[in-house]
Amino acid sequence: MYRVKEYVIPKSIEECANLLQKNKRSRLIAGNLFLRMTSADIPLAIDLSGCGLDYIREESDGTLRLGAMCSLRTLETSPLLRRYCGGIISRSVGEIIGTQFRNLATVGASVFSKYGFSDVITPLLACNARVRLFAQGELTLEAFLKQPRTRDLLVEIILPAGNAAGAFSNFRNSKGDFSLLNVASVRTETGYRIAVGARPMCAALAYGAMEQLARDPAAVSLAARTAAEELCFGSNMRASAQYRRQLCAVLCQRTLIETNEV
Ligand SMILES: Cc1cc2nc3c(=O)[nH]c(=O)nc-3n(C[C@H](O)[C@H](O)[C@H](O)COP(=O)(O)OP(=O)(O)OC[C@H]3O[C@@H](n4cnc5c(N)ncnc54)[C@H](O)[C@@H]3O)c2cc1C
Repeated sequence: MYRVKEYVIPKSIEECANLLQKNKRSRLIAGNLFLRMTSADIPLAIDLSGCGLDYIREESDGTLRLGAMCSLRTLETSPLLRRYCGGIISRSVGEIIGTQFRNLATVGASVFSKYGFSDVITPLLACNARVRLFAQGELTLEAFLKQPRTRDLLVEIILPAGNAAGAFSNFRNSKGDFSLLNVASVRTETGYRIAVGARPMCAALAYGAMEQLARDPAAVSLAARTAAEELCFGSNMRASAQYRRQLCAVLCQRTLIETNEV
């Protein structure tokens, strides 16, 4: 359990960001589900719930904006996201723990924390999402995942316009556990994007497999094997790297077949 000296609920993002920068040991609080499992002395806890970041907005050009404080349950049930890229973002979160949990856990915390086990980062990466950070501004999710951790505030996630086909699949040993691996694939007019996450490292794109499909969209099993060969996998208490590699080929093939069926 952590101990908080002062708890504030600012009314603006600017105020939250200023407080975060002023006090180097302060912490942002979103759904408070992960944070509550840590043990720390926090001089200033900055609750993000008063800043109006709980929104899903569609721009006139079809771009979608997901506020950082959107709960996973909101992503799961949003009609806009259920239609977007085969509903892969909604599908990726629907099995996480339980409804009450998903009502609290937020997309901003999941993405900003770059959790290796994350189910939601994988489809966001496949959809070519961008992130907007308060200090750093806008950048691709891929670039954000690769950069070292900074002290910043994730404001929103931006999804490009377009009606792409997509699929998501993952594998858990049991309900309520983390995914051993997850895969999301998207097909647009410009080609395929395949993201593999919970390796157990954070999601990454399978560039070799994507290039193979650009040359031959029917080469699904070859692309799936290429993805399994080109990406790094690690071992932990849930599965070995070798097991994950085999699983990757299977899940990639499944998602690509489903993506091509649409
Ligand atoms: C028991 C358990 C099981 C889980 N299982 C899964 C799973 O199977 N799949 C999955 O994908 N996820 C899983 N998660 C993770 C979960 O989905 C959330 O990602 C996690 O709870 C963090 O969300 P939160 O809103 O509770 O963040 P908090 O606990 O409030 O914050 C987590 C961290 O993010 C920082 N933060 C919060 N919001 C922002 C922001 N906007 N900008 C910058 N920093 C920010 C906080 O300062 C803190 O350091 C699990 C979590 C728990 C506790």
